[in-house]
Amino acid sequence: MTGANGAGRYAPSPSGDLHVGNLRTALLAWCFARASGRRFLMRVEDLDRARDAGAAARQLDDLSRIGLDWDGEAVLQSELGRGHDAAIDRLAEAGLVYECTCTRADILAAPSAPHAPPGAYPGTCRDRSEAERARERQRIAPRRPALRLRVPTGMAAPEFDDRIRGRVVGEIDDFVLRRGDGTVAYNLAVVVDDAAMGIDQVVRGDDLVTSTPRHIVLQRLLGLPSPPDVEFAHVPLVLGSLGARLAKRDGAVTLADLRSAGASAEKVLAVLAQSLDLAAPGERVHPQLLVERFDPGALPRSAWVWPGLENAATS
Ligand code: GLU
Repeated sequence: MTGANGAGRYAPSPSGDLHVGNLRTALLAWCFARASGRRFLMRVEDLDRARDAGAAARQLDDLSRIGLDWDGEAVLQSELGRGHDAAIDRLAEAGLVYECTCTRADILAAPSAPHAPPGAYPGTCRDRSEAERARERQRIAPRRPALRLRVPTGMAAPEFDDRIRGRVVGEIDDFVLRRGDGTVAYNLAVVVDDAAMGIDQVVRGDDLVTSTPRHIVLQRLLGLPSPPDVEFAHVPLVLGSLGARLAKRDGAVTLADLRSAGASAEKVLAVLAQSLDLAAPGERVHPQLLVERFDPGALPRSAWVWPGLENAATS
């Protein structure tokens, strides 16, 4: 699919430095966008105010260092709050929002509904009367209720064609739109922001594939573009040597770590390209060359195990 008027994006959370797994996902998002003629936009997902303010700048710097570019300035998600509030108001006016006072422990302790996916919200607060809600608000004060989406009864669970995983059939529950502390939930923000930025191609790690059906539900309820007008590609994660998702405990995994161990950004790009079958071992590559070689159908479908600096540096 070409997207001359569309855009792809990368949306990092500035919770620390990007590691090679994040860089690889960003590289793929960039290749998907550029190879299909799309613009490529950057959005810093900084809604969680506890995050390190300097991390966003370092992340963007690292993305540039490996040769990625994006159109326009990076957008800060924290500046898009008005759109988030408007979307929640709109859903509330349609009767699709309710207050929830459950804690995580309440949810775990509640009997789950038959056929509900594991961990699904059991619906405890869904049908409370106004009087019950007022009592609940008092009961949990000073904590405040979260807001959940009331998924319309009988709404079919969305299915979509993922560019990497093929047909995905989703499961949905009444998920949180706004947390009790007032922070807008990722699932709401991502949908509103992608639509506001004109994103029609979402490439991200496949740990988020189970969230996408929720996003499609919101797109439909808010009248925003959804598949097939928006395409999704959930890319395999990078694993550490113990088989779990790559993390700091796996040693030198950020660009800064690798630089101090003697690996240049060009070298890291080459190793990532090789892991995607876009470069031969030891070949030095330029990002534009990767766009020319890029074929979504030929991408590896399984997770890549980070070989460690010594092996990456000698491959
Ligand atoms: N901010 C999310 C993350 O870093 C990615 C969200 C997305 O791409 O939709 O995991």
